[in-house]
Amino acid sequence: MALHKFLVPYLLVFVTLAAADSHSFDYFLLVREWNPTLCGHSDCSRTVAASNFTIHGLWPQRRGGSWPSFCNPSATFDEQELTELLPELKVEWPALFNFSSDIDFWTHEWLKHGTCSETSEKPYFEQALRLHRENNILDNLLSAGIQPSDTVYYSYRAVVAAITADLGVRTQVHVYEDRLSEVWMCISKDLQPFDCPHWSQPAWSQRLILIPKPGFTETERMRTTSLAITGLNILLILVVAIGLMVVAQKSCKEKGRGTGPMWSFNKASPSNRGFADEHHLELQRLL
Ligand code: AMP
Repeated sequence: MALHKFLVPYLLVFVTLAAADSHSFDYFLLVREWNPTLCGHSDCSRTVAASNFTIHGLWPQRRGGSWPSFCNPSATFDEQELTELLPELKVEWPALFNFSSDIDFWTHEWLKHGTCSETSEKPYFEQALRLHRENNILDNLLSAGIQPSDTVYYSYRAVVAAITADLGVRTQVHVYEDRLSEVWMCISKDLQPFDCPHWSQPAWSQRLILIPKPGFTETERMRTTSLAITGLNILLILVVAIGLMVVAQKSCKEKGRGTGPMWSFNKASPSNRGFADEHHLELQRLL
């Protein structure tokens, strides 16, 4: 009995320390997704896919590769806390599938990952939005000439190099089949991006594509068609203009007032010279 009494406090300390340790983490992963790819293999019909990277989550991680989750079983999600952030959250952190609403998705991310972040709800979402805003992946790809397209492939090496060049840190670029799907960025606990550890990755030479958002191809096709129509219009205008010139020239000829093309009327072409000579002779006759 005495031994039991003696052991209980030690057991309690042990359990508390073990629980605390199961919540520990070393850094964050800011996970952004290229949602045209995600929507390619999941049903996003309820939503409209964005044409930029959007946030999947800000996940506390451990150096060894594991991560804590659901660190506070009694935690709740309070939408009111995020009132100020809602407009940006809706655009930058949308629920595309799986969840019935953005709120459901944010609730899941907060309860599973956010409660392990050692911060409260509003700063957790604020930090994720700020880090996302300050590290624009699509801009980096576009400035390296890597564009959303149905047909143009790039090497994994080129895509990683483009993202790394501008962000200044090594990220983890994830590929689903041959489509870029997610970019994971490592963020220290004091919220500074740093080089992610080397994880397994596709071969540098693997070809991958940044598929456009659904509807892009149609839009592009429409744009190409309208460009073709504009080209045709210009051609038509040119043909009509040349036709008018020819008609005008002919009527000039009929009146015996020159044979050269109108635009070279003042040049010393043989025909103009003939016209000038005739006038010269007539003048001489008159004098
Ligand atoms: P996790 O944060 O790892 O628990 O991810 C939760 C689930 O959300 C996973 O099944 C993902 O496939 C899914 N998921 C990822 N991005 C989105 C999104 N934008 N909208 C809805 N579900 C998503």
